[in-house]
Amino acid sequence: MATDIEKLFDLQQIDLKRLHIVKRVKKSLVSVREPIDLVRLRESVGSMSEEQESLKENQALAESQVKVVKEKIAANQDLLNSGRLTDPKDIAALQSQIAELEITKSTYEERALAALLEFEDKNKQYQPLVERLEERTGEWEELRRCAREEQEGMAAELKKLNRERSVRASDMNKDALQIYEELLKRKNGIAVTTITNSSCDACFMSLPTSVATAPRNGSSNYLHCPSCGRMLLQR
Ligand SMILES: [Zn+2]
Repeated sequence: MATDIEKLFDLQQIDLKRLHIVKRVKKSLVSVREPIDLVRLRESVGSMSEEQESLKENQALAESQVKVVKEKIAANQDLLNSGRLTDPKDIAALQSQIAELEITKSTYEERALAALLEFEDKNKQYQPLVERLEERTGEWEELRRCAREEQEGMAAELKKLNRERSVRASDMNKDALQIYEELLKRKNGIAVTTITNSSCDACFMSLPTSVATAPRNGSSNYLHCPSCGRMLLQR
């Protein structure tokens, strides 16, 4: 039949495992935060994509303006060729209008070409960044997938330990459990410690002979290390 202190020591083994898992889960959660270089890369690609979009829009606008001017030129040319205009002044005015429209058309054509060239030039920087982003995102997602699997495994392990702990705790002396839990909080996760060569295994202080060799006590009196205050388990 295990004594209360032995039961508490076993419970502590479970609590240490639980604590260890919780720490590992926290670490794992930190490791799957999006890396800063990936965040920056995504921002760069986002702003370059907007620039490229706006260049495409500029090009499309200039091209539609070219189309409108071309139609006006063609209509004027048709009128000129129809022979309906007889007054030389009218003919000269229309010819001058066509010439002006040709200049306007060239301006829009140049604008469309400039937008296209700038788009292609920037694309040389943009495309490799897009590829890099896809690659880095893929790597990061793989890392996250592994971490998720690992976290699921740890959560299952923790659930099992929690069940085991509550089964054991339900079978224990309530006062002993309370002292244990209070010590656990104050003493960095170690409430019960063993003795080696008459020294406390937690704080390594030598124990007075009276403590180190004290007979095993009953259920309600526990030996405490005079130095660190933890409960002592005599084997
Ligand atoms: Zn101690």
